[in-house]
Parts: sequence; C-alpha cells; structure tokens
Amino acid sequence: MENKQCWVDIPENSDFTIHNLPYGIFTVGRKTARAGVAIGEMVLDLYEVANLGFFDELKIAKAVFKKDSLNDFIALGKATWSALRTTLQKLLTAKNSPLKKVADKVLVAQAEVTMLMPVQVGDYTDFYSSIEHATNLGCLFRDPKNALLPNWRHLPVGYHGRASSICVSGTEIRRPKGQQIPKDSTQPVFGPSKLLDIELEMAFVIGKNTEMGSSVTTDTAADHIFGMVIFNDWSARDIQKWEYIPLGPFLGKSFASSISPWIVTMEALAPFKVAGPKQEPEVLPYLQYQGKQNYNIKLEVALQPEGAKETVISKSNFRYMYWNMHQQLAHHTVNGCNVKVGDMMASGTISGKTNKSYGSMLEMTWAGKNPIKLKGGDTRKFLQDHDTVIMRAHAKKGDIRVGFGEVVGKILPAV
Ligand code: CA
Repeated sequence: MENKQCWVDIPENSDFTIHNLPYGIFTVGRKTARAGVAIGEMVLDLYEVANLGFFDELKIAKAVFKKDSLNDFIALGKATWSALRTTLQKLLTAKNSPLKKVADKVLVAQAEVTMLMPVQVGDYTDFYSSIEHATNLGCLFRDPKNALLPNWRHLPVGYHGRASSICVSGTEIRRPKGQQIPKDSTQPVFGPSKLLDIELEMAFVIGKNTEMGSSVTTDTAADHIFGMVIFNDWSARDIQKWEYIPLGPFLGKSFASSISPWIVTMEALAPFKVAGPKQEPEVLPYLQYQGKQNYNIKLEVALQPEGAKETVISKSNFRYMYWNMHQQLAHHTVNGCNVKVGDMMASGTISGKTNKSYGSMLEMTWAGKNPIKLKGGDTRKFLQDHDTVIMRAHAKKGDIRVGFGEVVGKILPAV
C-alpha cells in the first residue's frame, strides 16, 4: 500500500491509519452489535458498507458483519481477510470514492460507540516466552543461580488459562479474594488479594480451525493467525504464590484478563517484522523456523490513581520475545491438540532488560522492595483500589504507523 491520502481525517500519531484497518465489534445507539474497522477517530461500519453493496464482488455474506463476534468473518480465511483489506484501502483512498458519498451512513465517531469483545474466545493459552521475565521470576520465586528451569530454552512453556473471564478494555476489575500464606506461617488465611498486579502481554487470535490429531508447523503457522491485541493478564501474586505448586497458575490468574478492542491483522503488522534473539542451545527441528518472525512493537504501561494524572511506569517492546508466535503455535499443536477460530494465545509477560522495561509490578518493584514513584509523590508496590491501568502499543517504520489503541482497566474494591 503506497502512502495514498485517506479521505477520512487521520490525526498525527493516530494508531488507526490506512495501513492498519483493525477489526472490532461495536454498538452505537439502538443498533445491534456489528463489525467495524477503526480509521482515524472514526469507525467504519462494515455491515452498513456491505449492505450498500460495496463488498458484492468479494462474495462475503453480509450477515458475518452483523454479529456479536468476528468469529464467522475470521473463519472465511486468509484470502478473504486480505481481499477485504485491499478493497477497504481502495475505498478509503480513491479520488471520487463512492464510499465517500455515503460517509454519513457508514462512519461513526469512536467517541460515540461502545466496543464489545471482538471475538468469542473458546480457549485461552498463556505462554511464558520472555527470557527476561522468566529469569526475573526465577530469581524472585526460586534461586538466582538457576533462575531458568532446564526445559525453558527447549520449549515455549505455557498453560491453559480461563477464557470466560477475558474481557474488553473498559471493563472494571473486582479485586479477587482467595487463600494466601502469611510470611513465616504454614497456615493460610482468606481475604482480598493484597498483591494485585498486571502482566503486560500481547495475544494472537487463531484464524483457522485445525483437526484433532493434526499439527501446525512453523512454516504454515502464519495461515492460522488472524491478528493481535494487547493483553493485560491481571495477577494476584499472593494467591498465585500459595496455589501454583505443583500444577501452575489457577485462581491467581483466572479472575480477569483484559484485551484491547481492536484486532490488528498480521498483514498490517508485516512491515514491522524483525529478527528474534538467537536461540541457544539449538531448538528441536519442529521448533526451527525461517525468516524474521519477531515484531518491533513498542509497548507502554501507565498507572493512574483515582483523581490523579497517569504515570508511565514501563516501556517495553514485543521484539524481546525469546519464542515467536509460530513456534508457540507449532508447539501447542505438536501433540495433536486442535485449535479453533477465536482461540487466544498470550505471549506471557513481556519484560525488557532493565526495571524501566519490566512488564509486571512484581518485577518493577522487585517484589515490593523498591516502590514505583508516581507523579504527585504517590508510590505503589502493587495496585490499590480505584487505580486504573492503561497499556498502549504501536509500531512505526518511516511514515507508516500501526497501533493497537489502549487496554484500560480500573480496580474495584473486593466485596
Ligand atoms: Ca501471564
């Protein structure tokens, strides 16, 4: 796509340029849920555009755009996603575009819409693929000398998470309650989590079903991935620390995960591919891959106490991931496990090399030892009630900017 002028106004530094065109599900006024594409500060109503006949040549049934999830559209496959993208780019840039003549019918301000969950998530998997994060947690929870467990460099460690509590940006998060173990005690107590934390992650959305018993290879993985969102994997560290041995995360994670509402497609992210870190020792053949499969996506986390200004508390980058998405999907399916359209696979906390780039407060404060300083003199070890967390992500190369917008969540007191 050359840098043609879009006839919809795109403010400078907008995440939603003509190069992006991310998909979401929204409602506005009395209209039922429908699919839309973000452009500048507007949403293009795909159902209305389809109704006016603009997609007739693509042979996409209009009904896929008048749903409360993108699953049916995504299931149409990669060739259709790509054809629709090309059509939309033409319609949004052409001089004398016929779409411009009906702009009033098909465009609505983002400020006026309510964003819903973009996909129905059947299954959710969380990986643990940042070597910096895994090393930090190994130091904090176990032994700094052997921070990484022996399997870590040989496979993308992951666990099956909870899909039912994945929620869209803006959803308020109730502080979870559960068992915790007081310091120097062997008797658990019950109550609201005192160590409520965030995890800065990205997640990808599965775009193609597989058969049980079959596997996706690293070479074919790209055909199975529709796009990505920002993913905040809220974590209650005190509940997690007591429960996780020997089977891994459970109630310390399953109460909520928040996602950004717009799914940015892999096609839009293609210009931002970069080489990943060298993997040593060499990985097994089924995890080897060709080409550059990491992405240069800048990430930031801001914390905003009630009634105060926000403070950016971390800046990280998705390119730091040790294991890439193709390796994660190949590993996930190598045993014959099937995946389905709409399944969500999160990266694991994305930490960089310094405490300004860590993806969790556990790491930023080194388990509470070094509180985070906020604007106005406030400090935080972990989240307090009524705190709001905002995560943002965007990629930029030359004049091309593609962003994810925000995922926002506010903590409500336990009940
Ligand atoms: Ca996580």
